[in-house]
Amino acid sequence: MPLILIAEDEPKIAQLLMDYLHSHGFETVWVEDGAKVVAIFEEKNPDAVLLDLMLPNRDGLEICRDLRNRSETPILMLTARADEIDRVTGLEIGADDYICKPFSPREVVARVKSVLRRSQVALKTEVSTEVGLVWDEPTRSARIGQHVLDLTPNEFNLLGVLFQNPERVFSRNQLMDRLYNDGRIVTDRTIDSHIKNLRKKLEEHGLGEKIVAIYGVGYKWDPTK
Ligand code: CA
Repeated sequence: MPLILIAEDEPKIAQLLMDYLHSHGFETVWVEDGAKVVAIFEEKNPDAVLLDLMLPNRDGLEICRDLRNRSETPILMLTARADEIDRVTGLEIGADDYICKPFSPREVVARVKSVLRRSQVALKTEVSTEVGLVWDEPTRSARIGQHVLDLTPNEFNLLGVLFQNPERVFSRNQLMDRLYNDGRIVTDRTIDSHIKNLRKKLEEHGLGEKIVAIYGVGYKWDPTK
């Protein structure tokens, strides 16, 4: 059974999440204190983390960054602050998804299943190489030359879709379908935000221009750039 770490300081919310996750076949471990999240994470090695943005003793964003530096384990941020969404999914923080409070437990379970599925995408034996970029599905790693790119699961999947279909233009909706196959609605901004972050990481190696925005349509990988 997948183990979900719940970092949430409101007992009622935590209990609701635990009850719902248990009834859907998950195991859970609960931590209230922000200062203890990383230690519990290291001890329990969960399959995914539900992380409240506002925790006592340590900021949720800081915890998220810390966890991301240690592991690729999917992180879902729980936030009541819509203005934090860009930062949460942004480059420096690297959360895989976010859930706005108030949420329905049903939605949380669907999102947890979705991030787990994406992080365990079928092991295709696929390696694509071009201009020194290697996108390797079996190890879920991408590298340029000897340098391994530090990508979130969403960025890795997005890179794979574009990179393996050079010149093909994908609309934001099509990219959303590839990333979020649970039928939920995410905004165009979410895709734009992931693309922006992915580009920044490619830019460090002179490949930022490979991802081209097609005005009014979406994005494509341009092998000629
Ligand atoms: Ca809180």
